[in-house]
Amino acid sequence: MSERLPWQTDLWAGLMARVRDKRLPHALLLAGAEGIGKLDFATQLAEGLLCQSPHDDGSACDQCHACGLLAGGSHPDFRHVGPPEDKSVIPIDTIRAVGEFFALTSQYNGRQVIIVHPAEAMSPSAANSLLKTLEEPTSGALLILVCSRPSQLLATIRSRCQQVNFALPEPAQAVAWLCERLPGDGDAEALLALAEGAPLAALRLNEEGGLAARQSLVRQWAGLLVGREDPLAVAAQWKPWGLAHSLRWLSSWVTDLIRLKSAGSDAAISNKDLGAQLQKIAERLDLRVLYAFLDQLTEYGRLMANNLNEQLALEDLMIVWQRGAQIITRKEIRQA
Ligand SMILES: [Zn+2]
Repeated sequence: MSERLPWQTDLWAGLMARVRDKRLPHALLLAGAEGIGKLDFATQLAEGLLCQSPHDDGSACDQCHACGLLAGGSHPDFRHVGPPEDKSVIPIDTIRAVGEFFALTSQYNGRQVIIVHPAEAMSPSAANSLLKTLEEPTSGALLILVCSRPSQLLATIRSRCQQVNFALPEPAQAVAWLCERLPGDGDAEALLALAEGAPLAALRLNEEGGLAARQSLVRQWAGLLVGREDPLAVAAQWKPWGLAHSLRWLSSWVTDLIRLKSAGSDAAISNKDLGAQLQKIAERLDLRVLYAFLDQLTEYGRLMANNLNEQLALEDLMIVWQRGAQIITRKEIRQA
């Protein structure tokens, strides 16, 4: 059983009060930023509801037969649904199986629970199929949608779920939680800033060597401008971070470059760990290139709702970045 995160205690108590009063809806939408523990919460909720002798606070006992089945991944009344391995989209067949699952009879205490995560990864046809399931709720069934970008869900799905909003934890609470889990030299505040205040994302960043990886990514990104790097090879280095994460980092770097260009080397920048590298890039580039690239990043952010091919998107961004710089350089040569 995973730990209850300290910033989720009020949300937990609120939901458990609904369980006690038999006011739990048949579909919940857990919404909030990535990396703050929504999936942990959903899992604990499923465990608590399926447990045969839960604690007074509603959490699972971790001892009973149902808890054993859940821990072993073989509880017949529970499913966790997501994209197939190496894919980013949840296909319609997976969601059809959700409907078929709820049509079965509960094997244990009358409840059936399905977690769909990340819910925004459902293909349009999968989302429509889920809508049918939501329109015909079965008794004892609970569908938990876990979602970082609820605006990408069909409005008709959102309106059929009770939305539970997860806020970012207070910075002091997040830093304290992170400090307890980082090895000795981990810089909790820097990691938390990079993860935009999301503690689990900050921890993951540290485990993946995030601070060191950023140094290497920014060096390669700068290398594109002088033709030292190949855009496709650079895009491959970004791929493990995912497009959403990459867009956030790149947007934040370009915003810092614009600040450095506009206010000089004393500008207050967000990516303090990359200050020296960003300063060098800023000296090389024109503001027009930076604004044009920022527009491109925003456009890709908007297109993400359409299940983009992430690798192609990253490759295109790196080519645009390299080409934009070249166009400006050539113009400047001609003007000289
Ligand atoms: Zn139990």
